[in-house]
Amino acid sequence: MSSAWVTVFVGLGSNLDRPVSQVRDALRELDGLPDTRLLRRSPLYRSAPLGPPGQPDYINAVAMLETGLTPDALLDLLQGIERRHGRMRGERWGPRTLDLDLLLFADRRIDSERLQVPHPEISRRPFVLVPLHDIAPELILPGVGPLSELVRDASAGELWRLAESADG
Ligand code: ATP
Ligand code: MG
Ligand code: MG
Repeated sequence: MSSAWVTVFVGLGSNLDRPVSQVRDALRELDGLPDTRLLRRSPLYRSAPLGPPGQPDYINAVAMLETGLTPDALLDLLQGIERRHGRMRGERWGPRTLDLDLLLFADRRIDSERLQVPHPEISRRPFVLVPLHDIAPELILPGVGPLSELVRDASAGELWRLAESADG
């Protein structure tokens, strides 16, 4: 059974094995998911890692998708993409080839064992807030508030926008 098509946002992050390529390839793969299409993608950003020290900087982006999938089906497919990119589950917030987090699913709030939406860390993470604001400046985060206010209050330190031609 398919549900109505809705707009969702996915946060992408990588800090291993040519992170820019990991993120660019993943954006294409998101567009190729069943019943799903990529509407907008943010610029790429480089951010300082927030997990264990000594890891490389991250490359981050946010994608706006339109999907007919359910949240659980979409999460399954996101995890499938992560696995195909060689994602290993090591220490919490440790380095990874690809992280795909479901940031927002329409205006829904979900709190199940495997899925919390809106993603609970959005408002604390400039590397999510800034690219999200690039592609959806008018967004209201369900249960949180206007994105524009969160961006205004966020510290911009440790986040750099990449030139479009950057590769690696
Ligand atoms: P963080 O969620 O703080 O960014 P992380 O992305 O490194 O940390 P993962 O190892 O990718 O965490 O995922 C751990 C678990 O989080 C997954 O198995 C998944 O079931 C759960 N999870 C809960 N909410 C979400 C969400 N909104 N998007 C993706 N995974 C989620
Ligand atoms: Mg994450
Ligand atoms: Mg994750």
